[in-house]
Amino acid sequence: MSGPLVIHGATIVTADDAGTLHPDGALAVEHGRIVALGPAADVLGHYASAERIDARGRVILPGFANTHTHLARVLARGIYEDLSPPHTPPFTGGLAPLPLPSLSADEERLMAVLGALEAIRSGTTLVLEEGAQLERYAQALADTGLRLVLCERAWDRGRASIGQPGPFERDAALAEAGLARIREFHARWHGRGDGRVSAGVAAWAPDLCSPELLGRVRKLQDELDALATLHLSQIWGEVAAIREQRGVTPVEYVARCGLLSPRLIAAHCRCMTAEEEATLGASGAAVAINPAIAARRGLAARIDELERAGCLVTLGTDNMAEDMMEVVRTAMFMERVRRADGRQPTPEQALTWATRNGYRALGIPDGGWLAPGNRADFIVVDFRRPHLTPALRPVSCFVHQGQAGDVESVMVDGRWLMRDRRVLTLDEPAIVAEAERVARAAWTRLFAERPDLKAPPGLDLSPR
Ligand SMILES: [Zn+2]
Repeated sequence: MSGPLVIHGATIVTADDAGTLHPDGALAVEHGRIVALGPAADVLGHYASAERIDARGRVILPGFANTHTHLARVLARGIYEDLSPPHTPPFTGGLAPLPLPSLSADEERLMAVLGALEAIRSGTTLVLEEGAQLERYAQALADTGLRLVLCERAWDRGRASIGQPGPFERDAALAEAGLARIREFHARWHGRGDGRVSAGVAAWAPDLCSPELLGRVRKLQDELDALATLHLSQIWGEVAAIREQRGVTPVEYVARCGLLSPRLIAAHCRCMTAEEEATLGASGAAVAINPAIAARRGLAARIDELERAGCLVTLGTDNMAEDMMEVVRTAMFMERVRRADGRQPTPEQALTWATRNGYRALGIPDGGWLAPGNRADFIVVDFRRPHLTPALRPVSCFVHQGQAGDVESVMVDGRWLMRDRRVLTLDEPAIVAEAERVARAAWTRLFAERPDLKAPPGLDLSPR
């Protein structure tokens, strides 16, 4: 974009502290920033010669920040949602009784890009991606135009998965390889994409990391001056494994290893005692609540308690779906059910978790809310739809009734990633067709190689 761009006629939801709305508002964008925002007449008067977009009937909101995901795991869509582990002993181990099929680097990249497509379509502008060997698809993600925090992962428990009981077999080579990957990835990717991409550090989960490794991850975080993330108190099997291995709770364990800080994003935080919530909150850590997958697992984080304790509440998708529209609504619904309160949390609170808080947790305090000088990361939502009419309280309608398909346009860093429901940075039809083929082939290979595995009911692997 050369000169300024003015989008006018829309209702603008700023998500600022006062909850300011501008009906018949306008915002001007230049060089990746919002340069003016307010009543349309004022902004248009000030930018008389600017390129204009008429957005009457639409609502402009800050884009969603997804603070915890593994994009390529859309591969397990339709399968892992219904295979959660038990919440009481015996914990037979692992998050799912089926392994994930192995993918080539090309196939994994394709699935990650499929996840990114879904993310953009649901109004996501910022994503924290956690995983091992992110180098395989970092370039493809950067090319989507999304704002990214990419956290390469370390762990050192050999031959085990999250929530698996039994002794901790420490594998020193795994630790060294993980730490080296984090360091190399950071050197290569931090600050790329005109500063849109940053690199963080990840310790996989408490029961997969020795105290020595956690201490070294924290040291590396300080050395790189980076954000850190880990899965924490995700399932009851993890709590049991930490109790068995370390004699304490997961939060106490990672606290002792020095991991808690305001620059930590702790994902899940749903199998916790009140004391753990207090410890985590006192550290000022952010929590990435993943309400959709939590609901599928039959679990819920105690969002209100975490927030009151001092945690910065943010939202993520985790696995199998990248729809932040569903996530923000599920967070509000689940928390209302859990608290038996039909008024709290409010849609405005849930929207803040999903936008401004997420940006703040990921080190971007001038994003996730709309004001002059802030980053031009926002979404344009078409409200001329039966389920959004009448739009008497736009934020409430959006959180209670909005759908990913209502998101018409998405801008990140002043660049359109989607315009009029067409994703501009990706070849959507080709990616969808190829991902369908690749995923069917991958699951078919797995069941052919492992005839001992039980296929879930309704599985259809016939070629398309
Ligand atoms: Zn996760």
